[in-house]
Amino acid sequence: MYADVILPLPLADKFTYKVPLELENQINIGIRVIVQFGAKKYFSALVYKLHSNPPKGNYEVKSIDDILDEAPVINLSQLSLWEWIVDYYCCTLGEVYKAALPSALKLESQTKVSFNPNYNFKEHLSGEEEALFLMLQGHGQTNIQDINRFLGKKSSLSILKKLLDKKAIYIEEKIAESYRPKTVSHVSLNPNLNTEDLIKNTLEKLKNAKKQQALLEFFLSEIILNPNEHKIPKKELLEKSRSNSGILKALIDKEILQLEQIETGRLDTSFDQEQKIFELNDVQQAAFAQIKKQLTENKPVLLHGVTSSGKTEIYIKLIEEQLKLGNQVLYLVPEIGLTTQLINRMRKAFGNKAGIYHSKFNDAERLETWQNILNNKEDSFQIVLGARSAVFLPFKKLGLIIVDEEHESSYKQFDPAPRYNARDVAVVMGQIHNAGVLLGTATPSFESYFNAKTGKYALTEITERFKNISLPEVIIADIRMAMRTKRMKSFLTPELFDEISLALEKNEQVILFQNRRGFAPYIQCKTCGWIPKCKHCDVSLTYHKNNSSLICHYCGHAVSLPSKCSNCQSEDIQTRGYGTEKIEEELQILFPEAKIARMDMDTTRAKKGYERLIYQFENRQVDILVGTQMVTKGLDFDNVSVVGVLSADQLLNYPDFRSFERAFQLIAQVSGRAGRKNKQGKVIVQTYQPKHPVLTEVAGNNFQQSFNRQMGERKLFKYPPYYRIVKVVVKHKNTARLDMATNYLAANLCKIFPFKVLGPEYPVISRIQTWYQKEIWVKLEKDSKLSHSKELIMNEITKTKSAQNNSNLIAYVDVDPM
Ligand code: ADP
Ligand code: ZN
Ligand code: ZN
Repeated sequence: MYADVILPLPLADKFTYKVPLELENQINIGIRVIVQFGAKKYFSALVYKLHSNPPKGNYEVKSIDDILDEAPVINLSQLSLWEWIVDYYCCTLGEVYKAALPSALKLESQTKVSFNPNYNFKEHLSGEEEALFLMLQGHGQTNIQDINRFLGKKSSLSILKKLLDKKAIYIEEKIAESYRPKTVSHVSLNPNLNTEDLIKNTLEKLKNAKKQQALLEFFLSEIILNPNEHKIPKKELLEKSRSNSGILKALIDKEILQLEQIETGRLDTSFDQEQKIFELNDVQQAAFAQIKKQLTENKPVLLHGVTSSGKTEIYIKLIEEQLKLGNQVLYLVPEIGLTTQLINRMRKAFGNKAGIYHSKFNDAERLETWQNILNNKEDSFQIVLGARSAVFLPFKKLGLIIVDEEHESSYKQFDPAPRYNARDVAVVMGQIHNAGVLLGTATPSFESYFNAKTGKYALTEITERFKNISLPEVIIADIRMAMRTKRMKSFLTPELFDEISLALEKNEQVILFQNRRGFAPYIQCKTCGWIPKCKHCDVSLTYHKNNSSLICHYCGHAVSLPSKCSNCQSEDIQTRGYGTEKIEEELQILFPEAKIARMDMDTTRAKKGYERLIYQFENRQVDILVGTQMVTKGLDFDNVSVVGVLSADQLLNYPDFRSFERAFQLIAQVSGRAGRKNKQGKVIVQTYQPKHPVLTEVAGNNFQQSFNRQMGERKLFKYPPYYRIVKVVVKHKNTARLDMATNYLAANLCKIFPFKVLGPEYPVISRIQTWYQKEIWVKLEKDSKLSHSKELIMNEITKTKSAQNNSNLIAYVDVDPM
């Protein structure tokens, strides 16, 4: 018997190993095995296929060393999805394996291991396991190669696996926080009291200890109310029964109740107990009914509903129905929109049936969610709220996939491969699992809207807000005019300044959006015009005042703020432009009484940074929130009356075929944060181009018009949604070599795809981290044989790579680039 296995490496092929006779009846597709690859390296590989065909070729086939799992860690539906991703995005199974599984499930020689300081030796450890545990305790973080040496083994992966299962160790990652299984004291009944009579007797005996009796009675009533719960958290029991730990202790001493430490995992499940699902209003109810019908037609459904129309409430209803059917639900949200707010809403509705899967979690937490879903037992998560990588979870009985804010570009993974778009993967996943797919947004991507208009997707639209509150009034404020009449107050037009003042007077809140973090996008010598640039990238350095340094936003390179010009030695250096940091500072001068906070990558880097800001804003500890894209997404506050877009021109002038589509989306989304609950809000959009059609369209809430106007150009210039783009990215440290290679490649591609090739051209940033890069875009017709065309492109890339002088060249494709 032979097994084709996938290694967690970006290598092209599957690899064939012999299955030793004694392992034949344990091996299975989807389980992990230990194999040697290369001279000394061992990996946990995934069994992809079992067969009896010896591989062709003249080499000795190695045997599988050992088996790691008793049961598969991934299922066949997942493998089908992986195959589709490999084919569509032109990547390898190894790359998908690497992206899909938590690190703890793809051990390799370089993996770093640490011990869990809170491990309690409940389970028995074998001699070898214990020796290793103690060794890790002494050494701290150790890589697997050193562990092999310590144990005198070729491979210690199977021991590591056992220790991982017992949660005695964990896999270290860059962002690792220590793995601390949280335990919570739970109260349960002494198992000896197993008949009604015994319980009655016990209660009877307590009649002289009224408080103890009351507590026991309360405990019993709680258990009867929740037949699935035999244990109640101690804290909850004491709070609800208004009892105290002394009384509880007496009952424990009398061996009536008992205390037990239960590991809750690090997934926070402290949520509101009351489960609350709103009734839908008539408009929502109609949309809900229509979506349900459309979902049965085996097409993805696009829900286009204005901001605050109650899309989330409709999702909740749909989820509720799936849970009743015993189905699992995947709820995808863009990275940034994974707000505390949303998980709180889900937990309110579904309690601990809702779990999260997210890149800000460490590997131990991700592993826990993975296993929880894999087991799909009664107490497992039925609904997972996750960022894009959640499409890789091992669902067994998936009924519905919701892709919230489907237009978001953060669904697309840029680097490394697989460069997939989770929204599109979700559509395929729906077919594989025979599950419904619902894409929701207030500002559809042109691709999805086009699909809906052409019948590939079904469409449901909601045009009014919940409670029929009007959409905010959008005012376009002309910066040029204000400058000419000298009425700008710092970066604020008189329109925006007045609205902020008014809002503050009325104790209402304000959100300001500026798409640049840092203090100033660049600094410049006043005498000679010199601008400091990154030495690794072709970009100017951004001035960050709080640590008085200049930072490259592409590679992270930082230098301290120069005191004089390195060109002419002048000391007259000024900051140019406005980043969020500067805006925050100047706002404080303009509105000295106001409490101002900033939300951008710099203030939310810490794990709870984002949550804290949301909390403060929700609780009105902040009057004005300044931020980057982060403030535009999905937030639901009820006291925001004014939203300001500080510079629409930054969005409109960005050189990309999607810039108008994006500008519309961003402005409409951030506007959607205003006046959600009580009364109409106001949005002020500052610009140098007050007559720009996109601004007129956004102000009129005219998505349809914006879409129609731009479709003509998209068609004419062969862009999506009419054509698919395969972007070929080529990098080299030497510009001459890069030019040669890309000219050669483009010429060959032109022969195969005449009139469909653009470039080679430098992208907006031509050099990143010392690598020069050029792009070639190939536009493929939608009806063409897509995978064949891609194959041709890949062949040309391979040809170019293997040509003379091209050994130090990086080249890859990005399918459907965003
Ligand atoms: P969207 O997702 O379309 O932006 P939300 O679902 O966030 O809209 O709804 C906006 C606000 O209105 C939320 O606070 C939500 O709880 C509330 N809301 C929407 N529909 C209802 C309803 N049927 N009953 C009560 N509150 C609702
Ligand atoms: Zn100078
Ligand atoms: Zn740089």
